[in-house]
Amino acid sequence: MPSALTFDRHAKCSTTKARASTLHLPHGSVPLPIFMPVATQASLKGLTYDQLRETGCMLCLNNTYHLGLKPGQAVLDAVGGAHKLQGWDRNLLTDSGGFQMVSLLQLATVTEEGVRFLSPHDGSPMLLTPEHSISLQNSIGSDIIMQLDDVIATTSPDHARIKEAMDRSVRWLDRCIEEHKYPERQNLFCIIQGGLDLELRKQCCEEMVARDTPGIAIGGLSGGEAKEEFCKVVDTCTDILPEHKPRYVMGVGYPEDIVVAVALGADMFDCVWPTRTARFGDAIVSSGTLKLSHKSFANDFGPVEEGCTCICCRPTDQGGLGLTRAYMYHITAKETVGAHLLTIHNVHYMLTMMGKIRQAILDDQYPAFLRKFFSDIYGGDKSKYPEWAVGALRGVGVDLLADS
Ligand SMILES: [Zn+2]
Repeated sequence: MPSALTFDRHAKCSTTKARASTLHLPHGSVPLPIFMPVATQASLKGLTYDQLRETGCMLCLNNTYHLGLKPGQAVLDAVGGAHKLQGWDRNLLTDSGGFQMVSLLQLATVTEEGVRFLSPHDGSPMLLTPEHSISLQNSIGSDIIMQLDDVIATTSPDHARIKEAMDRSVRWLDRCIEEHKYPERQNLFCIIQGGLDLELRKQCCEEMVARDTPGIAIGGLSGGEAKEEFCKVVDTCTDILPEHKPRYVMGVGYPEDIVVAVALGADMFDCVWPTRTARFGDAIVSSGTLKLSHKSFANDFGPVEEGCTCICCRPTDQGGLGLTRAYMYHITAKETVGAHLLTIHNVHYMLTMMGKIRQAILDDQYPAFLRKFFSDIYGGDKSKYPEWAVGALRGVGVDLLADS
């Protein structure tokens, strides 16, 4: 199928499966690996698009389900798509809308035709089909669009249902490809399903890779499965997926999940956690997460993170606001500006972390990056390292517990 992207591979780690590349999309080039902030309703809660641009973000997410309900397809068509609607001239990725329905709406039911649900506005019966999802995403005009897939909980014990969802997702991909009107300017990504069954995952990879979409997502994870299982699925899929296409692991995640998944060969990630946790007063820093609402910060006059170059942490003589932890404690989880400022810091942290990951891969120093990353979070105490991360990284040649 036609593609509206080019994927330049620059470096591959000589130990792990990590890759550094650049994804050229219709609204600019995106350095990979990348974390994509989630702007649910065409707005990143707590950030203006100027502020988001300042963090260096080149690609963020919108939710098709939310945009399809409001402002709706007619408004999107009239205004000329979501880039114009929200004043964002960089890249957008939209999900298919299916995940929102299945996760938000208890009354959603999946049939071969699509996902049936009751409108949250007026309770009327509605149906989201693969065709309707693609048509909506064509109206949104996002640079990357996602197929509608049959999403079930990874922890489901029903093997027959997991296989049905996998097979159906392949059939729905064909319907999405058929419906997609603008392959020359919007890139359709397939979504690998198959639960935690590695054989089903392999089958799904083969079926979907044969459809030759411009990019590939690994879906159905981050649903409460054990991290060991998550790593096995990513590792199994990346062994099969073509080297020359971007790989997106959906709904991930925490910094630890991301650094490990990069070592397993994944390129793209999204998660609401960094922005959501900011609204609760939690700052992401290299030693983990700081609960700035805790009174221990009331007299702490250092920045949220020493050396962070975000506008909040940067000293005033370097053009920043030079805000202290004591100030953040004073306003956080109370004033909306506290949420704004921490959202800026957290998004900046995630993007900066991705930049460091990329540079380490380019320098072929990713194993050393991983050692320092875990040492920083756990204060050098290897007995605290999570077993799943140690195991997954050992599988790609990095022993976090070894003396170095
Ligand atoms: Zn900062």
